[in-house]
Amino acid sequence: MIKFNVLTLFPEMFTALTDFSIIKRAIDNELIEINLINFRDYSKDKHNKVDDYPYGGGSGMLLRADVLKNCLEDIKPKRLIYLSPKGKLFNQDLAKEYSKLDEITILCGHYEGLDERIIKNYVDEELSIGDYVLTGGELPAMVIIDTISRLVDSVIKEDSYSDETHMSNFLEYPQYTRPYDLDGDKVPEVLLSGNHQDVDDFRLIESFKATVRNRIDLLDFAKLDKKEMKNLREILNKLKKED
Ligand code: SAM
Repeated sequence: MIKFNVLTLFPEMFTALTDFSIIKRAIDNELIEINLINFRDYSKDKHNKVDDYPYGGGSGMLLRADVLKNCLEDIKPKRLIYLSPKGKLFNQDLAKEYSKLDEITILCGHYEGLDERIIKNYVDEELSIGDYVLTGGELPAMVIIDTISRLVDSVIKEDSYSDETHMSNFLEYPQYTRPYDLDGDKVPEVLLSGNHQDVDDFRLIESFKATVRNRIDLLDFAKLDKKEMKNLREILNKLKKED
C-alpha cells in the first residue's frame, strides 16, 4: 500500500487518473491511496490568493512562500517531491525505488513556479518528467503516480511489466495479436511455432534492433550484466550470420 499526497490548486484534474482502469481498481482494492490537498485552503488572504509578483521584477507570478509553508507545516510530509522542469529526470529506475515507499507527497507548481525558500527548506527532490515546460505540475504528477503505481505489488502482475521497455537496457520487442493476416500483412511465423527458445531469440533480436534504431543512448555497455552481455554477443553473432 502506498499513499500519494498531492498538493495542487486543481484537484478536479486528477479524476482523469483516479476514475479509470487499472488505477481506479488499485484505489478500490486499497493498494494505493491518492489524497488530494488544495493548498489554496491555506491562504490567509481574504480572496484566497496564492500567487504574487517576483521580487526583482520579471514576467509571471510565483506561488507565495507563506501559503505553501502553512500547508507543509500542517501536513508534515515524509518525503516531498517538487515537480519542476529544472528537476532530475524521472525514469523507470526512480519509479521502482519509489514503489517501495509507503508515502510520497508531490507538490504541483503553477504559474512561474514557487518561492525558492520552499524548495530549500522543505523539498527532498525536484523531479522533471522531460525536457519541456508544461503549465502546471498536475499532468507530471499523474504521470509519476501512474508509473509508480503499476510497480506496486499486486496492482498488475509482475510478468506484465518485467519485459517492458525501460525495465532493462533494451526497448520492448514488437508484439502482435489477432487477426493473424491483416490484409496480407501476417504475424511473424516464429510466434506461431510453439518453440519457446525460438520465440525468446526472436524477441531478443527485435528488442536489440529497436534499441539500436530508436534509443542507442540506452545501450550503456557498462550497465549490462553478464547475462545481458552474453545475450548481446549471441544476437550480434546471429545478425552477422543473417547478413
Ligand atoms: N518558470 C519555470 C522554469 O522556467 O523552470 C517553469 C514553470 S511551469 C510554467 C509551471 C509548473 O509546471 C512548474 O512549477 C512545475 O510544477 C510544472 N512543470 C512544468 N514543466 C514540467 C516538467 N517538465 N516536469 C515537471 N513539472 C513541470
